[in-house]
Amino acid sequence: MFETAHEQPNSAPAVSPSQSTEQSSHPSGPLSQSRFDPISGNWTIFAPQRSERPDDYIDSVSKIKTDVQCPFCRGNESVTPEAVWSKHIPETDRLFSNISCAEEEIEPWSVRVVPNKYPAVESLSQDRTPLQFPASSMGDLFQAEPIYGGHEVIIETPRHFHSLTELDIAEIDLVFQAYRDRIRHYRAMEEIRYINVFKNVGHDAGASLSHSHSQLVAVNRVPRAIETMAERMKRHRAKTGCCLRCDIIRAERKSNERIIAADRDCIAYCPFASNLPMLVRITTLEHQACFEDLGDRTLESVSRMVLRVVSWLEKIRPGAAYNFCLNTRPPGIDDPSDAFHWSIDIFPRITQIAGFEWTSGCMINPVLPEAAARLFSKCAAASNPRRM
Ligand SMILES: [Zn+2]
Ligand SMILES: [Zn+2]
Repeated sequence: MFETAHEQPNSAPAVSPSQSTEQSSHPSGPLSQSRFDPISGNWTIFAPQRSERPDDYIDSVSKIKTDVQCPFCRGNESVTPEAVWSKHIPETDRLFSNISCAEEEIEPWSVRVVPNKYPAVESLSQDRTPLQFPASSMGDLFQAEPIYGGHEVIIETPRHFHSLTELDIAEIDLVFQAYRDRIRHYRAMEEIRYINVFKNVGHDAGASLSHSHSQLVAVNRVPRAIETMAERMKRHRAKTGCCLRCDIIRAERKSNERIIAADRDCIAYCPFASNLPMLVRITTLEHQACFEDLGDRTLESVSRMVLRVVSWLEKIRPGAAYNFCLNTRPPGIDDPSDAFHWSIDIFPRITQIAGFEWTSGCMINPVLPEAAARLFSKCAAASNPRRM
């Protein structure tokens, strides 16, 4: 909740004097807005309120030292906004050996979802009118529009753990149930066009708090890169009658060079054209457009596969920062041919995005996916999946 949705500059973005006055007069502070660059064709979200959020990694040299200081730890619930989703598995309480009397009075929880205290976008649930930008005063070259939806934090454990691999298996399942429920919640809202679930682990991956958590951002606009992805899947479906992702999975299984694990429901592989080193993609073997439509058994398989991949990644690159990004069919994408197929990408942040990549949008990946797959497969072979 005090955390970056994606990396952003420390300084507040520039706003025109008229907008600045309008924003500062708002009772809840400045509003988020989206601005269009007519040359690149990209929209950028401006969220001035996020410059105020604390940074765990900057405020204390060696990260948070005690549970008392961490807003996500059990016992500190009053520091966060009220939960919008919370579930409890009593069996995991045995893991609390040092619980105090005061903490016992707090409603127990195992996974808790709260609104982000420093949201990237305005919440739809708040009863207020978003800013309007009159076209005549802004002009075609300075297009801006309000951006709104929701920004939530999924607190994955009441204990001050840094890694998913420290969680109880039942908690991991619950985390994925929270993703499913909260995506469904936003999908039901007419204004929501895109929902993103992601996880930033480590400062280099954009995290500002070390307590294990993930985030959800729902917005009223589909980003251009996602539109392009959906368009390409639709074109393939129209041309071949098949799902592009399903075709790729079939081809990967045939070549068997980049698959690192599979079970009866899902598969993990290093994609042939990964734009980042050591990227692992997880998806269902059966065609499925939306992650949030997965049944309980499949959801459980996916959560275990994610856990296995993260544990292998931690063995290969101990302490590496990484991101986890979930792509589900955006509600704003019209997809009558059922061309979209959901996926999760997990990738360590082991290279910097430098000048060439920023300018061209073309990544330079120093690790061939075949080599990455061999490393992961070695770890997979050494571990016993039944223990996961
Ligand atoms: Zn904590
Ligand atoms: Zn498919």
